[in-house]
Amino acid sequence: MVKEAEIIDIIKKVKKEVQKYENPIVTEIGEVTRNPFQVLVSCILSLRTRDETTAKASSRLFALASKPETMIRLSTKQIEKAIYPVGFYKTKARRIKGICKVLLEKYNGKVPDNFDELMKLKGVGRKTANIVMCYGFHKKGYIAVDTHVHRIPNRLGWVKTKKPEQTEEALKELLPRKYWKDFNDIFVTFGQNVCKPVGPKCNSCPVSKNCEYYRKVYLKKMRKKVK
Ligand code: SF4
Repeated sequence: MVKEAEIIDIIKKVKKEVQKYENPIVTEIGEVTRNPFQVLVSCILSLRTRDETTAKASSRLFALASKPETMIRLSTKQIEKAIYPVGFYKTKARRIKGICKVLLEKYNGKVPDNFDELMKLKGVGRKTANIVMCYGFHKKGYIAVDTHVHRIPNRLGWVKTKKPEQTEEALKELLPRKYWKDFNDIFVTFGQNVCKPVGPKCNSCPVSKNCEYYRKVYLKKMRKKVK
């Protein structure tokens, strides 16, 4: 089992590496606006959508409405038009309207500062609820696991998990608590730019020495190529 000191060393190296790249858009929106509603909505927009598209769609939508009470007055068509071409824009427009309605009826127009309450909102899963807690409310004690945060610890050999929720549990066992909140931010940027889903840049990766995928998959492929 990987030692805590090695994990911390890898996190530090990855953090240093990603400084040359842009932050994931949802984190950026959280940092700039400090507004949980905008973090929630931009996170919904970001699902299965590139950051660049999410950034533009969020900006168009928030120029029309940035609070549940103003967003609810937009028609679904207006929301669709503002957020197009994010993936599943029609479904997302309906979800955003539905969430605004619930926020106004049940939560006094505020995003609940509570993981379990967030999970009750239609269209909000564990990843989104964790993102809102981490980057909307800036709370510690949560790890948001998306496709990058699920894939990279598996490649490194820290965990052997099939589903993101298993990775979330396993990471909570492995990582010291002070590293939970920023873990998504750092590893999403790393996954978007270096440890990509297809064609990871292993030959220039700062943590290749500590990586199981590098030893067991990447080097083997390279050796086959030169034979
Ligand atoms: Fe990802 Fe390759 Fe680096 Fe391992 S060596 S962390 S697979 S980029």
